[in-house]
Amino acid sequence: MFTKILIANRGEIACRVIKTARRMGVKTVAVYSDADAGAMHVAMADEAYHIGGSAAADSYLVYEKIIDVCKKSGAQAVHPGYGFLSENAAFCKALAENDITFIGPPVGAIEAMGSKSEAKKIMEQADVPLVPGYHGEEQSVELMREHANKMGYPVILKAAAGGGGKGMRIVWKESEIEDAWDSARREAMKGFGDDHMLVEKYLTKPRHVEIQVFADSHDECVYLFERDCSVQRRHQKVVEEAPAPNMTQDLRHKMGVAACNAARAIGYVGAGTVEFLLDEDGSFYFMEMNTRLQVEHPVTEMITGEDLVEWQLRVAAGQAIPVKQDDLSMSGHSMEVRIYAEDPNNDFLPATGELKHLRTPKESAHVRIDTGVREGDEVSIYYDPMISKLIVWADTREGALRHMRKALADYQVVGLTTNIEFLATLVSHPAFVNFDVDTGFIERHENDLF
Ligand code: ADP
Repeated sequence: MFTKILIANRGEIACRVIKTARRMGVKTVAVYSDADAGAMHVAMADEAYHIGGSAAADSYLVYEKIIDVCKKSGAQAVHPGYGFLSENAAFCKALAENDITFIGPPVGAIEAMGSKSEAKKIMEQADVPLVPGYHGEEQSVELMREHANKMGYPVILKAAAGGGGKGMRIVWKESEIEDAWDSARREAMKGFGDDHMLVEKYLTKPRHVEIQVFADSHDECVYLFERDCSVQRRHQKVVEEAPAPNMTQDLRHKMGVAACNAARAIGYVGAGTVEFLLDEDGSFYFMEMNTRLQVEHPVTEMITGEDLVEWQLRVAAGQAIPVKQDDLSMSGHSMEVRIYAEDPNNDFLPATGELKHLRTPKESAHVRIDTGVREGDEVSIYYDPMISKLIVWADTREGALRHMRKALADYQVVGLTTNIEFLATLVSHPAFVNFDVDTGFIERHENDLF
């Protein structure tokens, strides 16, 4: 096992990684920007190094600085968290050149999954089911139209390099495709510096169900069941739960096997998530693979009792996955929401300023809070305005919902607008309670939720 690791991140995920490392007796090194000099992750780590200005492009994204700190501090490995450098192939290569271990997958796997088009090509060969569509090299609106006409509308145009719901346009009829093509490509070029597009059949009432996989360097791959992330706003997740409601044992097994096939097809090692769309008729289709630990990993930890960060450290150090597939089991139901400093009544505009007063619900076997801020801290314009993740667990989904409602009611934030009330309304909505949910849930119930 490593004796010292560097966490190339900030906020709740940096704190969460430090907690596990500390429990394992691994020393931790934090890095921080100007804005984060007094941040919680800095206080929690054994050592901390200043790496530059507040803008991420001047600090958390400058990998030369991260590598310098590794050398200075003697950190043998880097945990990238999510976001920032977590899926940056050039960073992984630079670490390897300096004999520093990346706590994540091999660079080839990151590259293979970095493009949605490339990923679909590989998955096609590995017999992983795909949403029908075109993901080839040749690019023109005429070609997209031809494929769309053949498949039938609606279709979705997607940027191959896209992420975070950006660079996507739903096209309901042929006459809309030209405008959608132009604006999606413009957004993709601006956001990702790459306007390569693909087109897919647009499923109108799918669920987003993703499988947590874990692979080691000894050819073992297991799946830690599924998460349902169907409740989304503008293609971004709002509520995540595990297990997925109404999932059958048979479908879970099929999706788990498909996800492990996907991981094996790219020589995967470490924690990964294979995202699928689940259609009303029970068919499921590969969408993309995220080659990092995800924001919503705690719901999987809550139902399996495993610590995924511990697994990441072990696997990165060359150890085998600690359990076999048949030894993994799940119990109860878990749900996560993200508490944000943002204004749901003003297009979810981020709110910035001081957290003048902060009281979080009491943590217990039923309530877990992953956070990176304390009372008195500043939520700045520079980073994601997440205050915390609120995760609940109970024997049943009903029980989890009860804990979620109580915890949201107990959550007190003064000084900043938050989405707490919005979340409370959402998790009490009868359609959510009865799990009459697909990815269009929030849009369909807009009038009840705002
Ligand atoms: P990103 O990488 O930007 O998150 P994804 O490809 O993962 O993009 O898609 C994000 C969300 O968009 C999905 O969870 C789903 O709600 C919706 N989506 C994507 N592709 C389709 C599709 N073919 N049909 C219906 N919805 C889709």
